[in-house]
Amino acid sequence: MLDVELDVLAIGAHPDDVELAAGGTLSLLCDQGYAVGALDLTRGELGSRGTVELRREEARAAAKAMGLAHREQLGLPDGNILPSKENRIRLIQVLRRLRPRIVMTHPERCRHPDHEHTAQLVIQACFYSGLRMIDTRQDPWRPQHVVHFEEVLPFSPTLIVDVTSMWAQRIQALEAYASQFYNPAYKSDEPETFVSNRGFFEWIEARAKVHGHAIGVAFGEAFQLCGPLSTGDLMQTLQAEKAFR
Ligand SMILES: [Zn+2]
Repeated sequence: MLDVELDVLAIGAHPDDVELAAGGTLSLLCDQGYAVGALDLTRGELGSRGTVELRREEARAAAKAMGLAHREQLGLPDGNILPSKENRIRLIQVLRRLRPRIVMTHPERCRHPDHEHTAQLVIQACFYSGLRMIDTRQDPWRPQHVVHFEEVLPFSPTLIVDVTSMWAQRIQALEAYASQFYNPAYKSDEPETFVSNRGFFEWIEARAKVHGHAIGVAFGEAFQLCGPLSTGDLMQTLQAEKAFR
């Protein structure tokens, strides 16, 4: 069991969620030398395509494509990710062990109920993890920021990350999920899903182009901060070197 400090921990309901929403940003952070990990709350056992074992292998390959330092599954029941006390404690134990400075997770409004429940659970666990009277025989730890990535329902981003240099890696991470996303090499008679058709893949690219256009680059990924940014250096924070446009 890994017991090191991560810079960033991306928490998703199912294997494939974090790379689907933020694969370019996670790849970029790894490329920049940060220690980045992923936590999948479930094994995705309710998925219409693939098996738990196959999805675990796919998640491993995707983690390698992005350059993640760590990935693990918490094993909560798929379809029943309640923000309960028991689940909060299990997540707090992971947060206190991995000690991420930034946590990324689903937005508060999502198409998939598991994703909304994950957002609630993560926000609560990140707060309670900082309370020393919640005893897990670990030191308390509260991440500095919780950041929401964007999903199918669009939101107004508070920041957009330029992921142009990581686009090939981002696609490679998604292609690792042959059972989940469009991949002509995956032969099966399983039903097509919302995300397994070619059009969904094209939409991923189109949306990244829209966000990229907003900041003057080819591809971007959108995020919302949960809480204000603090800075003692406004110019550094707002990228003083960025050209006028
Ligand atoms: Zn999911």
